[in-house]
Amino acid sequence: MQAFLPRLEIALTQIQENARLLCALYGQKGISLMGVSKAVLGDPAIVAAMLRGGVRFIADSRLENIQKMQAAGLVTQFVLLRTALSQAEAVVQSVDISLNTELETLRKLSYYAQAQQKQHQVIVMVEMGDLREGVLPGDLAPFIKETVALPHLKLVGLGCNLACYGGIKPDERNMQALSTLVNRIEQAFQLRLTVISGGNSANYEWYQATPAVGRINNLRLGEAILLGRETVSRKAIPGLHTHAFQLIAEVIESKQKPSLPFGTRGQDAFGHVPSFPDRGLRQRAILALGRQDVLVSGLTPHNQQLAILGSSSDHLLLDSEQHPLRVGDEVTFDLDYGALLAAMTSPFIRKQWLQGSSPAATSQPC
Ligand SMILES: *Cc1c(COP(=O)(O)O)cnc(C)c1O
Repeated sequence: MQAFLPRLEIALTQIQENARLLCALYGQKGISLMGVSKAVLGDPAIVAAMLRGGVRFIADSRLENIQKMQAAGLVTQFVLLRTALSQAEAVVQSVDISLNTELETLRKLSYYAQAQQKQHQVIVMVEMGDLREGVLPGDLAPFIKETVALPHLKLVGLGCNLACYGGIKPDERNMQALSTLVNRIEQAFQLRLTVISGGNSANYEWYQATPAVGRINNLRLGEAILLGRETVSRKAIPGLHTHAFQLIAEVIESKQKPSLPFGTRGQDAFGHVPSFPDRGLRQRAILALGRQDVLVSGLTPHNQQLAILGSSSDHLLLDSEQHPLRVGDEVTFDLDYGALLAAMTSPFIRKQWLQGSSPAATSQPC
């Protein structure tokens, strides 16, 4: 088999095992999981691995990704994490449940649900302090009153999202506040909310520490499944695989050069005036990989003797003094979430799915 470079190797079995372990962990306290597929652009093979691992829903922020998964034949409940007014008609067509924060959008969804003779399910997101999406708690009751009056929508739950913009952690206080809001809304409107989606991969520490999850019965997990980490301090979750994705690039130049650039100083390719420590002559290598492909700051070389010196659009520079490289050699990196997002999106990086020896049996949905 020809090795394509650069390539992203994806260990599907490890992703499946991560999903299965997280389903078992959160399932202990009655929490179901949405596998979040946006970082991998709804890649059908990866999403199928999440489903084999037992996630009950697949959630994505992009309608196009959901449509791609459906076209690939994946069957599950699809959740749209980010709903735009202009897409309302297609949302009703392709998505089972959408997350919402605007009445104007909900009215449009109801309108198109009527036109398509459907009932569209919605989760209303509540602002719990991170200041990304969400209806402020003080506005929630009137918002819900109008939502439940829309005839072709079914309000299935409430949710919140933390640790994305404001860096606010999920904790006892904001999770209990969400539970309290759920109870109040159910009482005030005489209804039963079935999906209480308390957050994302950042909810791990809260979950481990909490004596009671309250009404929270769902989480939406991307990074924890894909990279095996929680996202408050990016610690590895015990038992999970953290190397399911590996980026491999090719050495195209390897030479001994001075560590100090020579000539008259001006700007680099990205408008900065760089400065360098003088470390004398060093062995350095250039990889055919650059900022157009990946978030270079999110890469970690597997070989700890290699150090990233810098990068431009198409070139990545390594100090290889401790580990000499030859032209044509392959260099392997771990990726963080930002690097994974970019690498999955780059048309220049070949994706290669590794099957491994995965048990054929499908886990029970949790
Ligand atoms: C991206 C996203 C998630 C998943 O976040 P992870 O940190 O990858 O678990 C969950 N919910 C919403 C609304 C999102 O946009």
